[in-house]
Amino acid sequence: MIKEFEYFAPKTVEEALSLLSQYEGEGKIIAGGQSLLTLMKQRLVTPRHLIDVKGISALDYINSDAKSGLRIGASTPHRAIETSPLIRSRFSILSEMEQWVASVEVRAWGTIGGNLCHADPAGDPAPVLIVLNERLKMATDFRLKIVRR
Ligand SMILES: Cc1cc2nc3c(=O)[nH]c(=O)nc-3n(C[C@H](O)[C@H](O)[C@H](O)COP(=O)(O)OP(=O)(O)OC[C@H]3O[C@@H](n4cnc5c(N)ncnc54)[C@H](O)[C@@H]3O)c2cc1C
Repeated sequence: MIKEFEYFAPKTVEEALSLLSQYEGEGKIIAGGQSLLTLMKQRLVTPRHLIDVKGISALDYINSDAKSGLRIGASTPHRAIETSPLIRSRFSILSEMEQWVASVEVRAWGTIGGNLCHADPAGDPAPVLIVLNERLKMATDFRLKIVRR
């Protein structure tokens, strides 16, 4: 059974960062929860405070311009990457890769940032991003962008 925890649902990056700093060492970010909740159920991870970044709209985006290249926010679900017309037309290997990640349900909840931060060596996105020679930018502890050079 999951150990009791306090849950926060910040609406802004600043609010989330402030909570992270307030509960340093005892707080943990949760996004889609697809990996973290399993670890919590097994009591391999027992955070006292959970900071949910899934509701921060500023971290859920896919966009592109000539200067910055493709940018994907950390809280963007796998399914959004898989079905994005922009990614399908210009970075099709990414949408093809996403089709092989778990099931539609997991892809709808799980996020690209959560996948990369969980850092499972068997994870699918990281090798594809490496092959694409992409750059991951950690603007803060948890804001993550993918910028194609
Ligand atoms: C049944 C099942 C099958 C799966 N199959 C595959 C597969 O075939 N291929 C594959 O690649 N993946 C697979 N996954 C993993 C899944 O696709 C998710 O990517 C993964 O669970 C993490 O995403 P999440 O948003 O759920 O992260 P969470 O579980 O919420 O978090 C995972 C970790 O990342 C940290 N974290 C989350 N977001 C951030 C952030 N923005 N900044 C810093 N730290 C952060 C959390 O603190 C936690 O430590 C599978 C998962 C399940 C449950």
